[in-house]
Amino acid sequence: MFKKIKRIKIGRHVWKIKRVARLTSRSGCYGICDYDNRTIELDASLGDYWQDVTLTHEILHAVLHEAVRGRRKISRRKEEVLWEALDGPLYGALRQLI
Ligand SMILES: [Zn+2]
Repeated sequence: MFKKIKRIKIGRHVWKIKRVARLTSRSGCYGICDYDNRTIELDASLGDYWQDVTLTHEILHAVLHEAVRGRRKISRRKEEVLWEALDGPLYGALRQLI
């Protein structure tokens, strides 16, 4: 559903989106949110659905990061649990808008 976009503006900053070969086998993750470089990496081998859900998940990380400007209010573990619960339902809601 999501276009194969390479950039997205989140808050005041533009984040890069990269599709990376063998990301999951190298990192154990379908996606990575690199706060320092404002880059989201997605495993290029994922199917469209999982690539979209993973992008939604990583965007949630980036949105929180930009919203609190690096002053984290919850632990990474709690954030991960929250976004894992919300990424699929949020993606399901967003795709109805397109
Ligand atoms: Zn995550």
